[in-house]
Amino acid sequence: MNRIRVVQTLEKISKIGATANGMERIAYSEAERQAKQFVREQCEQLGMTVREDEAGNLIARKEGIDPSLPAVAVGSHLDTVYNGGKYDGTLGVIAGLEIVRMLAEEEINTLHPVELIAFACEESARFNASTLGSKAMTGFLDLDSLRSLKDKDDRSIQEVVAEQGLEFESMTNAARSKEDIKVFLELHIEQGSKLIDRNKTIGVVTGIAAPMRLSLTIDGKSSHSGTTGMKNRSDAFLAAAELSLIVEKAALAEEQYETVATVGVVDVLPGAMNVVPGKASLKIDIRSTNGESRKRVLAAIKQEIERVEQSRNVKVTIDWQTEEEPVMMDEMLVKKMATICENRRIPYSFLPSGAGHDSMYMAKRWPTALLFVPSVDGLSHHPDEFTEAGDIMTGIGVMKEAVLAYAIEVNNKSKRRKA
Ligand SMILES: [Zn+2]
Repeated sequence: MNRIRVVQTLEKISKIGATANGMERIAYSEAERQAKQFVREQCEQLGMTVREDEAGNLIARKEGIDPSLPAVAVGSHLDTVYNGGKYDGTLGVIAGLEIVRMLAEEEINTLHPVELIAFACEESARFNASTLGSKAMTGFLDLDSLRSLKDKDDRSIQEVVAEQGLEFESMTNAARSKEDIKVFLELHIEQGSKLIDRNKTIGVVTGIAAPMRLSLTIDGKSSHSGTTGMKNRSDAFLAAAELSLIVEKAALAEEQYETVATVGVVDVLPGAMNVVPGKASLKIDIRSTNGESRKRVLAAIKQEIERVEQSRNVKVTIDWQTEEEPVMMDEMLVKKMATICENRRIPYSFLPSGAGHDSMYMAKRWPTALLFVPSVDGLSHHPDEFTEAGDIMTGIGVMKEAVLAYAIEVNNKSKRRKA
């Protein structure tokens, strides 16, 4: 394993799309294309065959002794948010590259092919739609839901992907068959501080907490702030504030399941200093890998709505509610990853992922494992994102062992026997 090479590769990719305020390698941009081109060249030098699929995913393949067998795939994404960091996504691609480099150096052949995948458009930064590449690969891309999307420069998704040589209507052709892949493995920074808090080096992700989201409108009554007595008000904002505290309390009651709930958007109308707010809206995001726990949080919020309506003389309406199913990682792979850590005496912890990843969709189709390495201060989507090189190397070591276990290393002796 070559630490200097890994750090240098990360530095080289980090020059692509670097700005004074962090990384800007937005999905389907020229910078993302250049980063893919860099990875493509590195892979071709290693003798891999490289292709780009209809969704813009880069797929590099090191052939196995039996090319008809399903591939062991490793990867993540190269796109970033605006003002992003160097590690989110990129780390998982570099890990895959380093593993293939090591296999080449050590002259290790595998029975199964090994693939490195750099997914396109994992981040929602450009179109408010995330994981397009992995959705396309797994057959979950819904073109209808994307057709009218525009970026902040008012450019349509059709136009933007066409610039990358892709055809919007053909993106679903990137779907691969179940027989193509044996397992998928992703290394990613944690995007939280549980590992550092627990003094662990590796996080073995058990599941990805999908969001349940709801939007509430609170109708009260606008009135003059100077002339309306405190007891005669129907203050929509105060009702919203009370409901927000109820959201917090409901999530805290589910702490043992690591369930979290957030009111991230509050609008207050009419929004004037001399008017008691007549209308307010809240957007609530509830996440857990435990579906029942998430339901209890929702139930607790709904239960309090009527009381708040009465005590504050307002009307609360649930405008819409969406829910995505939490995705569990493959149990066999989770155990395998833990065993590898134990054997190598690496301090590790099982933990849920609160953020979505390409692994979320890959897990719906293929046995998938997601490993976290610590992110200093829990930073992500931030220019100061940083992971210690030593932790990166530990993560790559675990990934490599897993790749060899599933791709099945064929040692020189058996190679000779075969010959
Ligand atoms: Zn990411």
